[in-house]
Formats: sequence, C-alpha cells, structure tokens
Amino acid sequence: MKKAVGFLLLVSVFFLFIVINCQESEKVSSEMASVKKWKIHDKDRPLPPVVDPGPSILPVPAPSDAEVLFDGKDLSQWEDSKGNEAQWKVENGYMEVVKKTGSIQTKKGFGSCQLHIEWAAPAEVSGEGQGRGNSGVFLMGLYELQVLDNYENKTYADGMAGAVYGQYPPLFNVCRPPGEWQCFDIIFVAPLFDENGQLQEPASMTVFHNYVCIHHDVVLTGPTAWKKRPSYKAHPEKLPLSLQDHGNPVRYRNIWIRNF
Ligand code: MG
Repeated sequence: MKKAVGFLLLVSVFFLFIVINCQESEKVSSEMASVKKWKIHDKDRPLPPVVDPGPSILPVPAPSDAEVLFDGKDLSQWEDSKGNEAQWKVENGYMEVVKKTGSIQTKKGFGSCQLHIEWAAPAEVSGEGQGRGNSGVFLMGLYELQVLDNYENKTYADGMAGAVYGQYPPLFNVCRPPGEWQCFDIIFVAPLFDENGQLQEPASMTVFHNYVCIHHDVVLTGPTAWKKRPSYKAHPEKLPLSLQDHGNPVRYRNIWIRNF
C-alpha cells in the first residue's frame, strides 16, 4: 500500500514538473512571438505613457554585499573594448562619455545579477530622437538597456530610454529632465547554453526606471542590435558589463552590482 502511494506521489510530481515546464516554455515562446509581431524600430508601435517619478531619493547606497563598480573616484575597474585604459572623463563624482573614445567595459565578467546604475542625459540639450543623450547599459556586453533623453523627445518605441533595445519598449516613459540624475535597477537573468552550445534558457530582465517598473520578467529574443534581432550564440557564463559611447556626453555614477 505504502509503495503504491509512494509511486502515485512520484508520478504526480513528475507530471507537475512537466506542466510547470510546459507553462514556462509557453510563456517564453509567446513573449518572443509578441516581439516578432512588430518590425524592428517600428514607428507604428505605440509609445508608452509618461509617468512622473516624483521626488528623487538618489543616490541609493550600495547594500553590504554589493560590488561597487564605480564610486565616483576613478575608472580602475573599467577598460576600453581593447583592454586599454578607459578614456572617459571622471570629475565631481561622475564619469562622462568622451565622444569617439569608445564604449567601456568592466575588467571583470558578470552573469545573472542585480544592477543599480545612475545616469544623467546632458543638461545642454542638443539633437533629437536617437541623437539626444544616447548611451546604453549592455549586460554581458550583449543585451542593451537603452539610455536616451526621452524627456519631451520622441523616438521609436523599442529604442526609448529603458527599452530592451529593438525588442521591448519600456512600459512607461519615466524620464527626468535632461541634466537630472535618474536610475535603473535591473534584475538580469543570463541565458543558459548546454555543452553543445544549444540554448537552454533565454535571458530575461526585470527593470525599474526611477523606481517605476518598466519591464517585468521579459524574455529576450537574443542579443540586441540596431535594425536586426540576432539569434543567441553560445557564450561564457560571465562577461563584462559595458557602457556605450554613442557620441553624447552622458554621465554615470554610483554603479553597484549583486551577483546571483
Ligand atoms: Mg544606446
């Protein structure tokens, strides 16, 4: 009798496991399909509503177990994409993109994580659309969360501030005016590949922009790119985090990360 009950329990757990797994993969494929329904950078894709985030409480202190990647003093934990010293400007507790010096990346690699990063678009407004305060936070150097000045500045939905670039527009436009400090809090789950390089689990992100949730567990279709949506290619479990030089003097400060 005991054996029969044990067997039944085992069978039920097995089926429950299958059901949960099927639900998971249905969610993954339906989200990926929802992205592909839109052309990349589709001008007809609806723009998210504007939300005023309220008064700022920045900077947010790093919790005790966080690794501080930039404390306002120097770029000792950063380098350029060729492994040379990072050339961005550091002053008054922030770093600033120096046009044409290239994107910078952490010397260390990171995978799944919680990342806090504060940024400010240039106070002096110049350019429009994608040309105003453009930069980007690239998780693993491959998956971009867009940094852009979208305060009273329109662009295509999947390229707005807080967009998973080319894939998911943010749920809300929570931009503060140019020159004001704002923040992203990102929960990133790295993709998993098997030993043959086949994708096992795609990457996903949950993001808060100025404490407002703008993505809840969205499933990425692959690395982000301009005008295309490339497929996943197997990569290491940890890769450097990078910040984009898109030619605009965007500022960053108080960057900390918690590894999962
Ligand atoms: Mg960008």
